[in-house]
Amino acid sequence: MTCHYETDLNASVDSQIAAADPWDVVIVGAGPAGSAAATLLAKNGLRVLLLDREDLPRPKVCGCCLSPMALSELDILSRQSTPLNLQIQSLKKLTIASQGYVSSVPYATGGVLSRLNLDTQLATQAVATGTTWLPNTRAFRWQTDGDFVLLSVRSKNDEIYQIQTRRLLVAAGLHNAIRRDHNHFSEKKRPKRPPHNRIGLGATLPSIGGPLDPEHLIMAIGDGGYCGLIRLEDNTIDVAAAIHPSKLRNEKSPAEALSHILSEAFNSSTCPINISTLKEMPIRATPQLTHQTGAIDFDCRKIFRIGDAVGYIEPFTGEGIGWALRSARLASEALVTEDGRLRQADQAAARYHRRYHQSLAWHHRRCRLVSLALRSPHLVSTSIQLAGCFPSLTGTVARLITGNFPTGKAIS
Ligand SMILES: Cc1cc2nc3c(=O)[nH]c(=O)nc-3n(C[C@H](O)[C@H](O)[C@H](O)COP(=O)(O)OP(=O)(O)OC[C@H]3O[C@@H](n4cnc5c(N)ncnc54)[C@H](O)[C@@H]3O)c2cc1C
Repeated sequence: MTCHYETDLNASVDSQIAAADPWDVVIVGAGPAGSAAATLLAKNGLRVLLLDREDLPRPKVCGCCLSPMALSELDILSRQSTPLNLQIQSLKKLTIASQGYVSSVPYATGGVLSRLNLDTQLATQAVATGTTWLPNTRAFRWQTDGDFVLLSVRSKNDEIYQIQTRRLLVAAGLHNAIRRDHNHFSEKKRPKRPPHNRIGLGATLPSIGGPLDPEHLIMAIGDGGYCGLIRLEDNTIDVAAAIHPSKLRNEKSPAEALSHILSEAFNSSTCPINISTLKEMPIRATPQLTHQTGAIDFDCRKIFRIGDAVGYIEPFTGEGIGWALRSARLASEALVTEDGRLRQADQAAARYHRRYHQSLAWHHRRCRLVSLALRSPHLVSTSIQLAGCFPSLTGTVARLITGNFPTGKAIS
């Protein structure tokens, strides 16, 4: 079942017009990172083009949970530009299930919003701030040309254009398939992806009654992967999972793999959704999740990466949107001087690189540790049993996993 979201977000130009004059900044990808950066740059009066290979609204495999960092970045974005009216539901409870053991803890500082809604509203804000919007256009290659970067794009009608820009922001998420021109292509530039990397799967289930309350996030941990369930603002259920490819190979279909994880985790306990409905729904998939590409292209300091395009770690802790928004703000602050002009490329690159690592490296390390611990459903079920004996420990562990610290603020 698809969720319908009405929008007036029409293309501002076509590819031919976009290729006619140079831009100050071109941003590839209208996820949270790309749209937030577009807003923050366009409000300084820069000529900003935001393009995406898809149109909005579009579905995205995601758990749709907003971490404290995401909420705080959305608040900053709203205060710095046209206000956002996102109507985020609050998240109040987290339940973890593994090998039939189930434990719940209060989860006080998170939010929930569908990606159809969040991404469309962020892009709408970018356009309202002066960004030019070009959907259905896939970027695939770049090369330098004096002070400019030339970006090759393929339009909806399968025509190829070159768009000229002073700075290029790559916000293309996990796909990140934009390569330097063939003459400069080097194998070393391929993102590093560890072996045993998982992929993401997602589905939207029809509205159901029953034990899955709004404001309640469920994480089911099984052998070879885990799966999150949450009720969205239109009452549909968002299903988002990270699964080892071998698990998929051993099952008849992605839906079977998801069903197995849920039935293993809940075992004899009651699963809050009717697992058989999964088999009737279209399942979306992502490329491999964990990768490290880098915030800056050191060969050409006019190219900056933000959001998942920089690097990503498995999504158990649900923090990618916060990182995407934070990196968009840091990149925008690095790119523009106090008086609203483009900063010199070398200085901007050094500034962004430094601030990105200061702000996000600790969060990445914590998430890497959590994702390693989750490789063992046995460890998780033992922790759940221990939590039953020492309830005060549960909150501390949950905070460490989710980055929710006692002040209610994420460590920045
Ligand atoms: C299973 C799963 C669950 C998750 N759950 C959560 C969660 O609960 N909370 C959370 O905070 N994060 C979660 N995440 C992570 C979150 O989805 C990402 O971190 C976030 O979407 C990153 O935003 P982004 O803007 O960098 O990229 P994206 O949101 O991926 O946007 C990238 C955009 O670029 C476009 N694009 C790609 N290639 C091209 C191209 N060549 N040319 C033009 N356009 C292109 C795409 O169409 C897309 O619109 C989850 C991820 C997965 C896989």
